[in-house]
Formats: sequence, structure tokens, C-alpha cells
Amino acid sequence: MMPKSPRIWQLAERRYGLLGSKCTVCGKTYIGPRNVCPVCNSEKIETIQLPPRGTIYSYTVVHTLPAEKDNYGPYIMAIVELEDGTKLTAEIVDCDSEDVKIGMRVELAFRVIGQESEHGIIYYGYKFRPIISRT
Ligand SMILES: [Zn+2]
Repeated sequence: MMPKSPRIWQLAERRYGLLGSKCTVCGKTYIGPRNVCPVCNSEKIETIQLPPRGTIYSYTVVHTLPAEKDNYGPYIMAIVELEDGTKLTAEIVDCDSEDVKIGMRVELAFRVIGQESEHGIIYYGYKFRPIISRT
């Protein structure tokens, strides 16, 4: 049984990769800890390891920056669909805003956590970067 405090969850992710929750009743998967399935209200939730790769489902380039991010530049927020179908919102790094495309393959890239946001933008500290094809 995985403890569900955010801090311990973060530490576990450093060690095990991206963790999620799966409802064992309806099969829906979620990023991060859950106690109750929002789809079917089941409390039969198990902790799962999410695949570290996926594709960009949709994205937006954010030009409006909080004051403390003066040197940050525009950044890309995307909905990433992981290989198991779990969707999550994450920042895309190592990618110019002109180069980002829907359907682009991305992989998990842990980065230093900058600003914790009440909107959960980088709350869990995960970001994604394009998978560079070495052909
Ligand atoms: Zn469910």
C-alpha cells in the first residue's frame, strides 16, 4: 500500500518513475494519488506505474509569465497521452514553441521543481521532452 501524502508520493516517483492510480472497478487510470474514482466513485484504487512515454494530445504555448519567471520565456503546456491512455498535463521542455506538434512522441524528463503552483502545473515535478529519433 503506497502512502498518499504528496511529499512521500514525490519521493516515490523519483525512485520508481511516474506513478498513477487505477480504479480496479472501471479501469480508468489517473496521474498521481487518488482515493476515489471520479468516474464510478469506487474506492478500490490501486497504485500503478505509468509508462514514461506518450504523445502530445494537445498543447498551448504560454506567453503570459508570472513575475518571478522573468527569464523563463514562453513555455509549452501540453496534454500528454501516455502509452496506456492516461492523459496528464505537463510542461514540454527541450523543444522550441515553433517545433511542437500534436502527435509528437515525448518521454518523461524529471527536472528541478521550480514554482509549485496551485493550478498543479509542476506540482509533481514531471515534465516531458521530445523523443529524439536517432535515425
Ligand atoms: Zn472507477
